Amino acid sequence: MKTLIETDSMIGKILGKQGYEEDTSYRLLSWCGYIDVGEERLLHNYMTGKTLVMEPGEDHDTKDLKPELIADWFLVPEDSNDVQLLEELRSAMKLFDYKKGINSFKILTTTDCNARCFYCYEAGIKKENMSRENAEKTVGFIEKVRGEGEVTLAWFGGEPMMNTEVMDIICRGLKDRGIGYASVMTSNGYLFDEEQIEKSVIDWNLKNIQITLDGTKKIYNKVKAYTDAEDDPYERVLKNIRNLADAGVRVNIRLNMGAGNFDDTLKLIDELSAGFSENENVSAYVSGLFQELEKDDVTLKKDLSEKLIIAAKKIADSGLDRPKIKNIHTRTGGCMADNDNHIGISPSGKLMKCEHFIFDRLVGDIDSGKDDELSKGWKERMPDGDLCGKCTVRPVCYRLEGCPVSHPCDEFEQREFTLRKESQILKNWELINRKGAKNVELTAVSDNEIC
Ligand code: SF4
Ligand code: SF4
Repeated sequence: MKTLIETDSMIGKILGKQGYEEDTSYRLLSWCGYIDVGEERLLHNYMTGKTLVMEPGEDHDTKDLKPELIADWFLVPEDSNDVQLLEELRSAMKLFDYKKGINSFKILTTTDCNARCFYCYEAGIKKENMSRENAEKTVGFIEKVRGEGEVTLAWFGGEPMMNTEVMDIICRGLKDRGIGYASVMTSNGYLFDEEQIEKSVIDWNLKNIQITLDGTKKIYNKVKAYTDAEDDPYERVLKNIRNLADAGVRVNIRLNMGAGNFDDTLKLIDELSAGFSENENVSAYVSGLFQELEKDDVTLKKDLSEKLIIAAKKIADSGLDRPKIKNIHTRTGGCMADNDNHIGISPSGKLMKCEHFIFDRLVGDIDSGKDDELSKGWKERMPDGDLCGKCTVRPVCYRLEGCPVSHPCDEFEQREFTLRKESQILKNWELINRKGAKNVELTAVSDNEIC
């Protein structure tokens, strides 16, 4: 047995090593799982983040390994309450990791959009553009509430590029006040041109952009149904992806896959692979449009889950997933909604916790500030579903009661979620074997798992 990835350092400090009691009978912690890799097997502890490589013939019952497996919380006493252990660890991690102030701002420049995707959750909502006055006030608000260090601005919409003037005002205002910032954006990528790309790098300090593609040319153009299309939108967006990446912006392409576009998604992955696999600044991932399926249609859900796994594997084989080593361990939060260091700002200057709630369930405004009592409501955890109590990946799953798209899994969703985690652990194994363990830098898991 050897160690592939060590216990997360904060978790290691909190838990320490588990003591060994001679007369006690031990069993595998509920939050540990095996993953086969040829002759060897990985044993991952989802609570601590530690991954072991087991030699052929070894497992957690191998006598010689017991002292080490107990010390590192792979084995726990037979009567251990694993849920309690995990939740106590979570509470301690939250105290340990407390940061003062807000350093991440999701700014909706507009709720308007130049595309008309059939699945858009914002379809039909009131159109609002952020005014110059609110952009100026946003700068003052950021100055007042920010924590230490640089702030991150996440431009969002609608389509944020439909109101670039407010991005200019906010970035200029922060620069004038000596506040460091970097930005990221979620966009359809259609409205960029050379001048905007230059501006995004120099003025907005844009580091990363997420652009969604819904299919190859014909399907993409039909789904997006741009209201202002003058040329071939698919070709134009691909060109913008290339130009943004060449200008140093990392482009993460989200491939939306529903019940009906599996074959086309595979074709799209081939096209992207041919165009971008050599470009380190371009990556891709596949996301399932489960919301378009009937809630209880188990067959379609299972079918989509399986197809997502195939598509994700094809992306990985093409090299477009740009894997990084990630330590997969206990999460202490769900998303921006329960994160005290994050706030959303709507075009009218209202403070939001979730991008799905722009007009209600708000938590204040840029004039009077954030209401902590209202924010508390967003922190409620989703109650356990039938499968959660013994679900191996429970430590890395954190869902919120108020989340409009979250629910306890059925068995297919649980399998899909587990396979996603296992595939990250396998990637870690591949990357470490490729690079040599000493060169590895661990990146904590911080991505939003749900929306
Ligand atoms: S919601 Fe799903 S993934 Fe999360 S703990 Fe429950 S069964 Fe597991
Ligand atoms: S995960 Fe849910 S609560 Fe969080 S931002 Fe997304 S939709 Fe909102």
